Amino acid sequence: MGLLYRCSACDKEMVLESYHQGRVVPCPWCGANEDVPNQLDFQTVYAERAGDESRGRLLLAISVASLLLGCLPAAAIVWWMASGRIGRAREDQREADPLLLNARVIAGVGTVIHALLWGGVAVTQF
Ligand SMILES: [Zn+2]
Repeated sequence: MGLLYRCSACDKEMVLESYHQGRVVPCPWCGANEDVPNQLDFQTVYAERAGDESRGRLLLAISVASLLLGCLPAAAIVWWMASGRIGRAREDQREADPLLLNARVIAGVGTVIHALLWGGVAVTQF
């Protein structure tokens, strides 16, 4: 879980960590040697990553609770918040936190299930 870096030879993304700085790293996809610049900002990446992880833990807990308690608005809000964080990580060329990805999947499933259930309730009542 580090910085996403695009290979200059095959254009695929590889994940770099701070210890790769200033070194020659072989691309995991095509094997081409890539010079990793010294001035990559890993400090910010690691700080943002820690923030994503703690937010991911919270959103995951809320998404599971909303799934169990049948709270459609909470599931929808978690899905939206997790999607925002994941999108921002990708814009910043960071890997998305797995907790955020899991929270979004669970919240998405919860939103769909509850929407179907509430839709079913509405149909049977009218
Ligand atoms: Zn490559």
